[in-house]
Amino acid sequence: MTTGRDPAVTRRFQIACIPGDGVGPEVVNAGRAVLDALAAESGGEFAFDWTSFDWGSEYYQRHGQMMPDDGLERLREHDAIYFGAVGWENVPDHVSLWGLRLRICQGLDQWANIRPVRFLPGVTSPLRVADTAELDWLVVRENSEGEYAGLGGRNLSGRGPGGEVALQSSLFTEVGCERIIRFAFEQARMRSRPKVTSVTKSNAQQYGMVLWDEVFARVAADYPDVESDSCLVDAMAARFVLAPEELSVVVASNLNADILSDLGSALAGSLGLAASANLNPERRTPSMFEPVHGSAPDIAGRGIANPIGAIESAALMAEHLGLGDVGRRVRAAVEATTASGVLPRDLGGGADTQVVTKAVVANLAD
Ligand code: ATP
Repeated sequence: MTTGRDPAVTRRFQIACIPGDGVGPEVVNAGRAVLDALAAESGGEFAFDWTSFDWGSEYYQRHGQMMPDDGLERLREHDAIYFGAVGWENVPDHVSLWGLRLRICQGLDQWANIRPVRFLPGVTSPLRVADTAELDWLVVRENSEGEYAGLGGRNLSGRGPGGEVALQSSLFTEVGCERIIRFAFEQARMRSRPKVTSVTKSNAQQYGMVLWDEVFARVAADYPDVESDSCLVDAMAARFVLAPEELSVVVASNLNADILSDLGSALAGSLGLAASANLNPERRTPSMFEPVHGSAPDIAGRGIANPIGAIESAALMAEHLGLGDVGRRVRAAVEATTASGVLPRDLGGGADTQVVTKAVVANLAD
């Protein structure tokens, strides 16, 4: 379904929209409403053409796959992809994840995943220090290999019950490590605190993660203007809680960064707050923007999901499309919303998804 055609518009962006499962459609509607409100008042400067794809677990029920065979080709025709969430009880998690989200990330070589963690006014963090220190993290996740390379297999089930073996290998390439680490340093240069912290578990994983550490040291030498340090992932989990003000950009492998960004967003107040972008930095393929949270089956369909992670993901998408001021305005509107006490239930308030979304749209005008 394509909407909003107006020939007088100067910049028209083709967005593929995949609401997916659970709360996905609810929060994606929120993000679309915010971007459409900005487009409507841009005086024809820009507009979004949304094309919705019904891929996900319901689609799987009907077609036996999460997306059609030519899905990636259809996505390639767009400027960006706006994604909700994937995962429902009718499909095993590893099937739904590999069949849709990972297929898109890997098929379109969206090798960098950025996950900003912001602390919002009016939202109480479980971190005592967050009341006084200004905390602002960017988790940069290697998004194409590492623990999610999908290398391995299951075998020997012929031995009978209890006899099967499974092998799951991580893949670390020098090219893959270097491009994500360099990307993290470039991101750090754009921040008020130019610092990159690399996270591995190289004491235990002595091949791939030692390679990562060596590449990190080599790349860091090219950025003398950016502070850098390294940390083991277990120590890093403690540092997020105990010394969060020491962190700015945190770069880690696929699995480690996934875990740390959930920790970061929970410390900021809720998983519902966190935004993310799966980027193909060379812009050979469309990038994909999605909230960090999953399909949240426990609250799906009740209209109470926190839309802020999805709305801020839409802001990242606008920035990626070259609409920098739109991204800044959306973030300011979110801050004004939480500061005024309009908080969804996961943040201790009583506002449902639509009330939060309407407040953000109203605050765009200020
Ligand atoms: P995934 O593996 O895809 O990350 P998950 O099942 O581990 O998914 P979520 O679906 O993100 O995790 O849900 C984890 C918890 O966070 C649930 O209790 C859910 O209700 C809550 N949650 C997630 N997203 C939101 C949201 N947008 N608003 C409110 N609560 C949320």
